[in-house]
Amino acid sequence: MRRDIAIDGPSGSGKTSVGLGVAAELGLMLVDSGLLYRVFTAAYAEQFPSDRCLRSDRLLDILERCISYEPGGTVLFGGRVLQLSLHDPRVDSLVSPVSAVPQVRAAVNRELRRIALLQDVVMVGRDIGTTVLPKALLKVFITADPDVRARRRVAQLERQGRPVDYGAVLTNIKERDAIDSCREDSPLRCTEEHVKLDNSADGSDGVVQAILAEYRRRLEHAV
Ligand code: C5P
Repeated sequence: MRRDIAIDGPSGSGKTSVGLGVAAELGLMLVDSGLLYRVFTAAYAEQFPSDRCLRSDRLLDILERCISYEPGGTVLFGGRVLQLSLHDPRVDSLVSPVSAVPQVRAAVNRELRRIALLQDVVMVGRDIGTTVLPKALLKVFITADPDVRARRRVAQLERQGRPVDYGAVLTNIKERDAIDSCREDSPLRCTEEHVKLDNSADGSDGVVQAILAEYRRRLEHAV
């Protein structure tokens, strides 16, 4: 029986922090699917630094190269370490168009399912409960107020020594939400199977505890 937890939700809702807390408590591996979309996007942005808009012919060429991992957790793309940060503003602005391309989604999903075949996981993203792990024991949809999400992102970038403008971050978050929710291939959506939780409050411990309680309840009742 699959015992995975799928956590979906929009940008900056705090899915990854919640996922980390849940995974640590249960001793499960956390898989952040957004990072894989960011790897393809960073590879594209590095190779074609002057492209302001995505050129899908160039992107498809990049998909031929494979992702691998070094023991310390470093991601290699086509055998080399990416120089561009996965959270660089160029990656932020291109990642949603990149991830709307069906061939990119197919490549990422292959990799995610390969990882999940090896063990039960806590996986976070946009389409985990609907597409990647439809048989997950628990599906959660995390929301948070857009203003809270933008402020969190600004604070995260400032901690990394990269001050940014609040307005620009809020705009990017709203643009990504729109593209992620409206694309044809596996859009972001909260289904009847998702348990919906609001993560607008400071500190995500309440949300983590709610997920753990529901997961343990389902485990007890699972056959
Ligand atoms: O979660 P994160 O913000 O790092 O994800 C970056 C982008 O990757 C999202 O804005 C979305 O466009 C895309 N993504 C996706 N499906 C997922 C995870 C991320 O389309 N399962």
